Amino acid sequence: MTPPEVIVAGAGLGGLSAAAELSRGGLRVLVLEAAAHVGGRCTTRVVEGARFAVGANTFGIRSERELARHGVPRPFFPAPYRIAYRGRNVRFPLDRSSLKALGALGLPLPLVVGTAVKIAWAIRGEPPAGETYRDIIHRLLGGRGGAELLEVEAWYLGAHPNALPASCLKTFFGLRYGFHRPVYPIGGAHRIP
Ligand SMILES: Cc1cc2nc3c(=O)[nH]c(=O)nc-3n(C[C@H](O)[C@H](O)[C@H](O)COP(=O)(O)OP(=O)(O)OC[C@H]3O[C@@H](n4cnc5c(N)ncnc54)[C@H](O)[C@@H]3O)c2cc1C
Repeated sequence: MTPPEVIVAGAGLGGLSAAAELSRGGLRVLVLEAAAHVGGRCTTRVVEGARFAVGANTFGIRSERELARHGVPRPFFPAPYRIAYRGRNVRFPLDRSSLKALGALGLPLPLVVGTAVKIAWAIRGEPPAGETYRDIIHRLLGGRGGAELLEVEAWYLGAHPNALPASCLKTFFGLRYGFHRPVYPIGGAHRIP
């Protein structure tokens, strides 16, 4: 057996992406995985016949492009999601129904647009490294104008707003990963790895 030039420990999305890049660069790569499945926190579990994405479940158009770059066909479908907030369902990415729901929550269109512009401007660079997601929301919105709703979005990422870095706000504004057009892999999250 030809010895590998690089050994990657862990076949999660990080390890697999690194291995794919190195291999495309002409290196012989060996990926070692401790678990019985590849994918790490991007996988699907079947419980009583129902499939659940247990970790990463929503991707952006950049994931689609990355997979295409590696010759993988694009096995995605659009996956808008809804956040139940104070008895209203706010759909993301925002559409007419979300604007209606936001209006009913006391967040009229000019305020929504104004807030989006304010945030987009503040995060156009890299937010300070020590700043948390909650810090930046409160710095920009002072606890009003959808601050609480944006915190609910942080929970959607599976983390406490105090534990997420401020830069995660870029994810929700589509500035990273292309999350403004979320997609879900056909057949389950495990198909990505
Ligand atoms: C609940 C939840 C929801 C999420 N939702 C999203 C989402 O919607 N969209 C999104 O983009 N991201 C999402 N994420 C984040 C995403 O899942 C992770 O960022 C990504 O899967 C991490 O990949 P990784 O390769 O860095 O690590 P992991 O997926 O943790 O992979 C590490 C791998 O290394 C293996 N390993 C560890 N130690 C060793 C060893 N010594 N030897 C061999 N193997 C080893 C592990 O078994 C594992 O398979 C979510 C995460 C969680 C927890």
